[in-house]
Amino acid sequence: MNKDDQKEYGHRLIALRAELEELETMSAEACKPVALDQSMVGRLSRIDAMQGVQMAQEASRRRQQQLARIVGALARIDSGDYGYCSLCDEDISVGRLGIDPTYSLCIGCAEKSV
Ligand SMILES: [Zn+2]
Repeated sequence: MNKDDQKEYGHRLIALRAELEELETMSAEACKPVALDQSMVGRLSRIDAMQGVQMAQEASRRRQQQLARIVGALARIDSGDYGYCSLCDEDISVGRLGIDPTYSLCIGCAEKSV
């Protein structure tokens, strides 16, 4: 992978990061603990609300992990290692990076590590 390609993926990763950060900000509200407001209509709706919070927290956790992978990928772009498998140093295929630009393993190593 040449520098221009790395730069191109860098732009995509930065756009992805901005998108995730925006979603995170928007969902921060949904992650707030449910206030046990007695005026709320009954127990079932409280359970519903709590499940909603759990789902929002789970989605948030996945976004945090994705953000961490993006930060890692951007660091690899800086160091010039981006696009190369972090285990065997082979090229990671463009098709694979198209699925997820934060992949740090080639298909061979990814399959072995499962
Ligand atoms: Zn590999």
